Amino acid sequence: MSLVNITINNQPMHVEAGSTILQAARQGGFDIPTFCHADHLKPFTSCFICAVKVHGGRDTLVPSCATVVREGMLVTVEDPELDASRKMCINLLLSDHCGDCLAPCQSTCPSGIDIPGFLALLREGKTAEAAVLIREQLPFPGVLGRICPRPCEDACRRQKVDEPIAICNMKRHIADAEKERFGGPQLPTPAPATGKRVAIIGAGPAGMSAAYYLRLAGHQVRVYERHPKSGGMLRYGIPYYRLPETALETEFDALTTLGVELNFGVSVGTDIPAKKLEQDFDALILGIGAQGATPLGIPGEKLPGVWSGIDYLEAAAEQKPPVLGDRVVVIGGGNTAIDCARTALREGKGKTQVSILYRRSREEMPAQDVEIAEALHEGVTIEYLTAPKEIVQDGDGLSITLNRMELTAPDASGRRSPVPVPGSEYQVRVSAVLAALGQQVLPDLARDLGLETTRKGIKTDPQTYQTGRPGIFACGDCQSGAATAVRAVGSGRKTACSVDQYLSGLSVTGEPVLFNSSMGPLEDLSPDMFTEYAPAKRVQMPVISDAERRSTHKEVETGIQAALAVKEAERCLGCGCDAKKDCKLRQYATRYKGDQELFGPPAVGGRRGYALDASHEQIKMEVHKCINCGACVRACAEIKGLNVLAYVNRGFMTRIQVPFGRSLVDTACDGCGECTKVCPTAGIRSRQVATAG
Ligand code: FAD
Repeated sequence: MSLVNITINNQPMHVEAGSTILQAARQGGFDIPTFCHADHLKPFTSCFICAVKVHGGRDTLVPSCATVVREGMLVTVEDPELDASRKMCINLLLSDHCGDCLAPCQSTCPSGIDIPGFLALLREGKTAEAAVLIREQLPFPGVLGRICPRPCEDACRRQKVDEPIAICNMKRHIADAEKERFGGPQLPTPAPATGKRVAIIGAGPAGMSAAYYLRLAGHQVRVYERHPKSGGMLRYGIPYYRLPETALETEFDALTTLGVELNFGVSVGTDIPAKKLEQDFDALILGIGAQGATPLGIPGEKLPGVWSGIDYLEAAAEQKPPVLGDRVVVIGGGNTAIDCARTALREGKGKTQVSILYRRSREEMPAQDVEIAEALHEGVTIEYLTAPKEIVQDGDGLSITLNRMELTAPDASGRRSPVPVPGSEYQVRVSAVLAALGQQVLPDLARDLGLETTRKGIKTDPQTYQTGRPGIFACGDCQSGAATAVRAVGSGRKTACSVDQYLSGLSVTGEPVLFNSSMGPLEDLSPDMFTEYAPAKRVQMPVISDAERRSTHKEVETGIQAALAVKEAERCLGCGCDAKKDCKLRQYATRYKGDQELFGPPAVGGRRGYALDASHEQIKMEVHKCINCGACVRACAEIKGLNVLAYVNRGFMTRIQVPFGRSLVDTACDGCGECTKVCPTAGIRSRQVATAG
């Protein structure tokens, strides 16, 4: 064997004569990206992503897969200029790549749950496995399956056929089935003890989610909570008729089984200084939520009979709500206002008249549509464009002065402001007022620890959740401002990842963010994608009787039967890509921070359209995902001599397809799968792999 001497990135090497630069670089441990290259096929150089610099001569970029080494060659295979060139190459390929890495439901979920994955398991009757899969991202499916505002369903592609999949109800079904079968969550075994200790302030969904994943990573975790029980706003805010205590306890109490220590009745800052926790533990997480009620800011708001919505709901959760009398008004337009109204209605056993007053119109009301509909169904009334001005004592009740409001023309941000209609004042006599205008983050603990705050809450790095002080992290509502439980749980998990990195002495970068190609918004999708699906009705959640709803705190939704849940899971279109775990385009787009929009529509030209060839039993072609590298064309020709595939058309319209508009099944393709082994995306894929993926 004759050797030649070359230098790659200043590293002298002896390599076999006749090797390509790519082979030599790999031998030296350099990872040059490739798309069209396959060791067993002739070089083709169509993608040019493997280009490197050969110094001397013309000093140009050459494809490393096809350039043979020469004695004394000086090569650079990694530097910022090559990174920029590879990034440009990837951006151009992405601009014409039509596919989703993750299903839109999954990429929309703030916790990133593998929704198509758990629905596929449910379809196969594997509910226990489905629960385990969900817990990789979210430890409380039974809780979130009851109260999540379901952004995933808004993104669900099934809407293009009929209605979105009942994803949230399926999540609840899976958790309920698991409880029935195993008595509670199937808990993974924590990693061996690391000897590191983490303190978490707050046993709400954010703090408890962080505790769960840190404990699984082998750390010792102690949670400090001022209340006597865990759950945060889920227990002390959300009423039992939406989230029964048992559902919460099943999943939150399981953390003690894992070995998480829960110290209840300890208010950090009052009973123990936060700085003491900082000294005694290796890392500290704040998951203290947004505990301050936004004030009404009008005269009379401190009068007896005027309650903050969250104080009222907390008293109701502790089964000692104040008696509100026969005429209650709730001020606000969010979910807290709806929860207050529906709770007051139940407490009044059908004899209390409850109205919500909201200063904007129905269109701007932030409460979920389904919650508004439920409240109206139960007999709550809603007065839009109405705002309070003053509250005064009136005998044994209260008199509230109200203004009719109108909305201004949209400002530069498109927002319309409510302003009083002149001369529209009127008075209403009421027995109680519940002020539900939102929650704010209390700044005391942040101040004690010397942490910076923003208008919304505690300032952290958005990716790592680390505050400006190393080793101190913040997640959930106290970091984002009042938001949703699913976001709080997701941020708790991501924080746990950063804390684990911090405790392991690694650089704190947070959970890896992978590139995600998108086919675009629902309205831009081609109808061709949906022609194969017959309409099938979404399964409906059964509910208790109206009489029970008006007078008891029983859970309104009773759960979906197993057979119907399987039927619902069968409606899932299985969006997302079969190749999301091994797609080279995704890997390199992540590595080089690809931008699909830079050269894509509407910036430049149009993107290739959806084109599926599912005619063959063994091989599926998604031409819309192909990047024209040609590896499949060569595999078919060089290995099998069949020439089933070819480049069709010219210029921007070039596609790799079966020529003459035929389908794969009408060719000599014997399904050997050689083409699928060299495809860097999911352009052509073995159906067996596709199903398993
Ligand atoms: P929290 O749940 O507020 O938990 C923080 C915990 O920290 C609390 O237990 C608190 O007692 C504790 N704590 C605070 N300070 C200290 C201290 N100094 N020492 C010790 N402990 C401390 N979201 C949804 O997704 N769906 C819904 O339907 C929904 N409905 C809602 C209804 C209401 C009435 C409210 C108020 C909120 C609702 N939300 C809903 C929002 C959701 O509850 C919150 O986004 C979520 O609970 C935030 O989680 P967290 O862990 O950040 O904070």
